Amino acid sequence: MDIEQFRRAGYQAIDRICDYYISLRNRPVIPQVEPGYLRKLLPASAPTVGEDFQLIADDYQKYILPGLTHWQHPSFFAYFPAACTFESILGELYASSTSNPGFNWSVGPVCTELEAVVMDWSAQILGLDRSFYNTTEVGGGVIQATACDAALVATVAARSRYIREHPQVPMEKLILYTTTQTHSLGKKAGLILGLKVRALPVTAEDEFALRGENLEVALKEDADAGLHPFILIATVGTTSSGGVDKLDEIGVVVKENHPSVWLHVDAAWAGVALVCPEYREVCQLAAINSYADSFCTNFHKWGLIHFDASCLWVRHRTHLTDALDVTPEYLRSKRGDDGTAIDYRNWNLNLSRRFRSLKFWFVLRSRGTEGFQKHITDCIKLNDQFAQGIRKSDQFSFVAKPFLALTVFRLAPESLSHPTTPELNALNRAFYARLAARSDIAFTQTELNGVFCVRMAIGTERTVEGDIDRALAVVGEEGRIALRKWER
Ligand code: PLP
Repeated sequence: MDIEQFRRAGYQAIDRICDYYISLRNRPVIPQVEPGYLRKLLPASAPTVGEDFQLIADDYQKYILPGLTHWQHPSFFAYFPAACTFESILGELYASSTSNPGFNWSVGPVCTELEAVVMDWSAQILGLDRSFYNTTEVGGGVIQATACDAALVATVAARSRYIREHPQVPMEKLILYTTTQTHSLGKKAGLILGLKVRALPVTAEDEFALRGENLEVALKEDADAGLHPFILIATVGTTSSGGVDKLDEIGVVVKENHPSVWLHVDAAWAGVALVCPEYREVCQLAAINSYADSFCTNFHKWGLIHFDASCLWVRHRTHLTDALDVTPEYLRSKRGDDGTAIDYRNWNLNLSRRFRSLKFWFVLRSRGTEGFQKHITDCIKLNDQFAQGIRKSDQFSFVAKPFLALTVFRLAPESLSHPTTPELNALNRAFYARLAARSDIAFTQTELNGVFCVRMAIGTERTVEGDIDRALAVVGEEGRIALRKWER
């Protein structure tokens, strides 16, 4: 493809992307395809002779689009949102146009410099403490691909710090703490690093949040057993319920009595809500600022910047570089050697890194703090509307308190007298199976301490009040049918 062919294909691509967004509302949310559908449509091997690009672009429309779940659809309420804005797409386009792997400052100075700036801008709009800013040259922020990567990096750094402080402790005595509601990223970090993992139990009465006293008990038990907890992965906005661990209590326990334990706060979804001062208290910003060694939030979930845009801030950058700096001769540079510039390769697991900060810069400037605040409050208002419908209904009940833009509920009709948990679970599995069979709307199932339930998470910019009314109508109708069938 030459420059002029690229120009033509590029204009067409933008036109087609615009048409896609114009038609999005009329598309099914869930694709109507069966496993293996694509292999039947494509040749068994790549072509020997290159093909005309127009053919390829048309085949994208024909074969690829029908196999996509439309996460930007106004009726996509599953998992958590996967942000995507036009400014962000353009940022990615420009970034990919120069394909700069930016691992050291010297191999693309602006990649490093812009990342350091936008991470400080992001820290500012979220209200994070100055000690997390890159300008301190002590703490700092780095863009990771995912929150799983961020937790893994934090765990590697915490382990390295702990071993340096306690050289006599054998590796097999180390233990990573999560809660039973921590995202699977905790277990995965343990799996990858060969570490013991202990998931501390949380209860519905405590709104699925870890309490300081429960942590204290676990720390004592493990100390008595000769184990060494070295990191706790706490959460602000858990996946299944939106729970917020009691960071104020946990922070006191860790920092006053167990200062060698690293506190990582995973706020992959909810963290972006910190942009609104009115949600800072429920998201425990003061405790994050006082106690967290590291903090992560994904702008690629609720934060208008699309995948991959996971932010990790640390209070001491040397804990990352002490753990992750491996510098053979071919990676050395003058600036790296004399410490006058950040080499971000030493702040993450990989070497080459995409120029992700460009899309941050585009979106942060284009929307401004107010644009982010509006997006968050719009979604929360829509969730209030949904929660209000659930509250008023005699069919449904909440399984967790609605939080920000997440409602977790189940079918629990008042007409049923004293149903047992297994009975209600069976009813709700049948109810969810009906929802999941629909292609025009998407929810996710989950389980909270043995209770099967349905999650509704709002986050695309295209969802409006009418979509919430429709969602309430759909759950109401499917709930009635599920109940009728179940009663027979
Ligand atoms: N943490 C929480 C609370 C999540 O809900 C999720 C995903 O939904 C993750 C972490 C994982 O995020 P990522 O896909 O960026 O690793």
